[in-house]
Amino acid sequence: MAPILQIKNLSHLYSAGTPFEHKALDQVSFSVERGEFIGIIGHTGSGKSTLMQHMNGLLKPTSGSVELDGVDIWKDKKTTRQARFRVGLVFQYPEYQLFEETVYKDIAFGPKNMGLKAEEIDRRVREAAGFVGLTEEQLKVSPFDLSGGQKRRVAIAGVIAMEPEVLILDEPTAGLDPVGREGILENIQAYRKAKNATIMMVSHSMSDVARLTERLLVMNNSRLAMDGTPDEVFRRAEELVHMGLDIPDVTRVFLRLKKMGLPVEPVYSIQQAVDALKKLKGGNVHA
Ligand code: ADP
Ligand code: MG
Repeated sequence: MAPILQIKNLSHLYSAGTPFEHKALDQVSFSVERGEFIGIIGHTGSGKSTLMQHMNGLLKPTSGSVELDGVDIWKDKKTTRQARFRVGLVFQYPEYQLFEETVYKDIAFGPKNMGLKAEEIDRRVREAAGFVGLTEEQLKVSPFDLSGGQKRRVAIAGVIAMEPEVLILDEPTAGLDPVGREGILENIQAYRKAKNATIMMVSHSMSDVARLTERLLVMNNSRLAMDGTPDEVFRRAEELVHMGLDIPDVTRVFLRLKKMGLPVEPVYSIQQAVDALKKLKGGNVHA
């Protein structure tokens, strides 16, 4: 099947033509297949957020293109508007953009903008609230009366309520406690499963992306430095460290063991570590 998104030689300059000109994206190209769960990693300032904001037409390429189902999302006004609905973007710290008097109204804002009928809006608000675990009671309160984690859920529900085919989340778990983080990650997986949605998630947590995603894009200095399965990417752990990136704890331990002379290859999951250690025990180590 044809890819849902195609990014072709995408470059973006901020403040073009001024002394503050900055190339935030440099010739980035990749395709996204329908239904994939992709993780985007890279150090701060590498261009992750800039890249994500191009996926739904929030930012316009300086050069290159973003195609949705083979059509440039900047082809005409109608196409750009469609892209905004079909590709949903949850910003970093989205709770700062809540502004309605009730949680219900905040979640309803997107679907309303789409021009849907009242009944359909109502159905979507309730379904989206369900995905993120908000109760009927919470729909009636002011978003400002909720905890940080709950506000984040409201903001995510607002995007989910538009039922985007591609859901993009820019560091959705940043600043939350472990329980809040796990909850949000489960919400995302629930949405993906229910709607066969495509997910792109920017994350600082290497263990989260290693565990959840099928493919990783690594941004470095405005460029796409790697594009592969978590296995392929974490095998290049030394390069990742060089780029100022964190690697999974277990990968770090194994790199250390390798440096100490043990015949092990880098691993990135606990299961792989167990397998590698078993092999080692059967072979070179007499414990
Ligand atoms: P990341 O999300 O990986 O941290 P960003 O895409 O936010 O990276 O930023 C990439 C680069 O572009 C950084 O150097 C940042 O300072 C710069 N940048 C981001 N937004 C703007 C903006 N609105 N105007 C000018 N420069 C920006
Ligand atoms: Mg960012």
